[in-house]
Amino acid sequence: MFMKKFDIESLKSAKAAIKAAKSVIITGHTNPDGDAMGACLALYNSLKKVTNAKVIMPSDYASFLKWMPGSDLIKVYSKGLDTFIANADVIFSLDYNELSRLGNMEVIVKQSKALKIMIDHHPYPDTYAQLNFNDETASSASELVYEFILSNFPETIDKDVAECIYTGMLTDTGSFSFNSSMPRTFEIVADLLKHGIDKNRVINNIYDNFSESRMRLMGYILNKKMKVFPEIHTGFITLTLAEQEMYNYQIGDSEGFVNMPLSIKGLRFSALFIENKDIVKCSFRSKGSFAVNEFSKKYFNGGGHKNAAGGKSFETLENTVQKFESLLTIYNNQLKNLV
Ligand code: 5GP
Ligand code: MN
Repeated sequence: MFMKKFDIESLKSAKAAIKAAKSVIITGHTNPDGDAMGACLALYNSLKKVTNAKVIMPSDYASFLKWMPGSDLIKVYSKGLDTFIANADVIFSLDYNELSRLGNMEVIVKQSKALKIMIDHHPYPDTYAQLNFNDETASSASELVYEFILSNFPETIDKDVAECIYTGMLTDTGSFSFNSSMPRTFEIVADLLKHGIDKNRVINNIYDNFSESRMRLMGYILNKKMKVFPEIHTGFITLTLAEQEMYNYQIGDSEGFVNMPLSIKGLRFSALFIENKDIVKCSFRSKGSFAVNEFSKKYFNGGGHKNAAGGKSFETLENTVQKFESLLTIYNNQLKNLV
């Protein structure tokens, strides 16, 4: 078995801090996805055997993730938790690397005297954490959490831990289609199978668990809302509040929509704009050389990975789309030649 080469001294310090802690808080990013949930719940299911651990998420998450072991014990952040967070001894940042990804929870985590430990796979990590276990070549934060647990508390790995890790790896790689070319990723999957995960149950829970209205919404957006510009290899989708209401939209219902234009032959850049009450949520995906994290950071207050990024716009949906379309004009030459 090969272990990721995390710094040994950092691993030892993390282990000692966890053992000495009276209270360990595990956090993921706002709108937690399968990887944030998988990483947090895997670590929770492991650490609950050695210390007093709790998962606090900055916001609620999709119902297709609510089957995960330990998810019923997750707290969604509210002001009432501030004292608890301020008094924690250790706070984990999983699947994010800048505190702004915590939304309303940012201030209290920043103020907390707790030792901060980051385990993440995004590029350009911020420097707020005293201990860092980062690797942007990893498939997912969940994969790195597996390495962390394997290094420090291997005896705590059970089926629940393994299913959470698998969920994060599965969802962050589009079912092992991208970010999954390292042999280590599949060695870990083999380990997880040895721990007795029910692979088919996880896949069924994640991908065959949608409401009828979400499937009809998907049909509607593909039919009526997807714009395609073959000559610049680009496609995008918009979703208004009225449309969300029409299709009884629930958190998580747009999961995967942003990837759909990329299934069209020749397309290499896609975007999704979802109108929220206060902001427009933006998502960007690409294949190949176009760095959507830089694009999102520059124009849409966001960031992420080279081929998968998110952001937000504080303008109306209409103005946001106008801005995006004018950027397509500015980037015309670059997009025409995308490889
Ligand atoms: P999604 O489009 O699924 O929301 O996000 C895609 C990727 O971009 C994820 O890795 C996510 O963590 C990252 N991301 C999403 N929104 C933001 C944002 O507002 N800021 C930053 N820095 N990263 C984001
Ligand atoms: Mn991730």
